Amino acid sequence: MRTQVAIIGAGPAGLVLGQLLTNAGIESVIVELRSRDYVEARLRAGVLEQGTVELLRDNGIGRRLDQEGLRHDGIYLQWPGTREHLDFRDLCGRSVWIYGQTEVVKDLVAARLGTGQPLYFEVSDTAVHDIETDRPAVTFLDADGHAQRIECDLIAGCDGFHGVSRPAIPQASSRTAQRDYPYGWLGILAQAPPSTDELIYAWHPNGFAMHSMRSPSISRLYLQVGVEERLQDWDDDRIWTELSTRLGHAGWELATGPILDKGITPMRSFVSEPMRYGKLFLAGDAAHIVPPTGAKGLNLAVADAKLLADAIIASRAKRARTPIRTAGSVRAEPATLAGRGQNLLDSYAETALRRVWRCTHFSWWMTSMLHIEGSDPFARELQLAQLRYLSSSRAAAQSLAENYTGLPYGW
Ligand SMILES: Cc1cc2nc3c(=O)[nH]c(=O)nc-3n(C[C@H](O)[C@H](O)[C@H](O)COP(=O)(O)OP(=O)(O)OC[C@H]3O[C@@H](n4cnc5c(N)ncnc54)[C@H](O)[C@@H]3O)c2cc1C
Repeated sequence: MRTQVAIIGAGPAGLVLGQLLTNAGIESVIVELRSRDYVEARLRAGVLEQGTVELLRDNGIGRRLDQEGLRHDGIYLQWPGTREHLDFRDLCGRSVWIYGQTEVVKDLVAARLGTGQPLYFEVSDTAVHDIETDRPAVTFLDADGHAQRIECDLIAGCDGFHGVSRPAIPQASSRTAQRDYPYGWLGILAQAPPSTDELIYAWHPNGFAMHSMRSPSISRLYLQVGVEERLQDWDDDRIWTELSTRLGHAGWELATGPILDKGITPMRSFVSEPMRYGKLFLAGDAAHIVPPTGAKGLNLAVADAKLLADAIIASRAKRARTPIRTAGSVRAEPATLAGRGQNLLDSYAETALRRVWRCTHFSWWMTSMLHIEGSDPFARELQLAQLRYLSSSRAAAQSLAENYTGLPYGW
């Protein structure tokens, strides 16, 4: 088959890219390794930056988000004896929304299927070909085992950390930077009403803890655990006891309930460059991973998709020879867009990486400030000094707020 953009992966990056392209009249084919049920149930992120919410709304995917998403105007930072509120609206005039990645993916899949543009689930043996030529292609076996080939103008590798796109870039042309943290997060989903109106990030000598939520009746909570910890050593009582200790605060009580899901996620920072090689463009976790403390993974994937969509849309205008709508719905003359479009495609990797590295720093900084590593009293006092500074300096709090709620896409 022939299309304009072949997209590998139906996670947030691939689905958002497909939606933005469709809305601008550009054809794409999405191929996804897993089943629809699997991708829609994969429990992951839950905090949406304001820019992510606006992008979803502007592209017709905001209806359920507006009904069910919870707008949060701040977070709590906590350490023993203190719980401080940071008011994002006061600090930077922006908010975040609590709306699970499962729901974002469900909305995006429904929107994609509604457009009639192809989305193949349960593919196997995906491979990219001829990415250094003007006739790149993707091959795969469809769910019935039939061999398929997509000829296209360019390939978007949105297939996450374990996908096939990034390894297709020759090693001699790529460079990776990585940090593995000596701890992970034990996360639970609990049938318990949230005991807080906004997220609590808690520093505690036993290790970091976090209270998040998914809805008025479902809580999501996390505990820092060592990388060697095994899930079977954490029964429900032990988890609730440790959460109550680390999140404990005078006059406050943690509501408990049946645990619906639990898992341990290792934490890593990882950036692979370049994000473009020939006609292959990487977006989202295919190119970078952040630890979840800054709530950036899903939002970064959406930001990459937006930058890439804008570049593709602008470059297509040259061939269309008619005015064309960009993802930001600005009408422009083709001559202007043609030049700008080529520039945007050429500079996609650089523009995306500048923002990726900013978010990588923020995620590392939040992680380092809140997690316990070893027993060094010097390191702990530095963490507490930083937390006290955030609660007493408007300038320091503003910096956290503007990073947490999301920097502009072209940052
Ligand atoms: C366990 C876990 C917990 C997380 N928790 C948080 C959190 O709390 N907060 C936060 O901000 N972020 C979190 N993240 C990160 C966030 O979920 C990701 O950053 C986000 O999913 C990235 O979206 P993506 O589309 O780039 O990649 P993915 O969501 O990984 O999507 C990639 C898609 O490509 C598909 N694919 C892979 N290989 C192939 C192939 N060969 N052919 C076709 N398709 C393929 C995959 O099945 C997948 O559907 C978490 C991640 C994990 C793994």
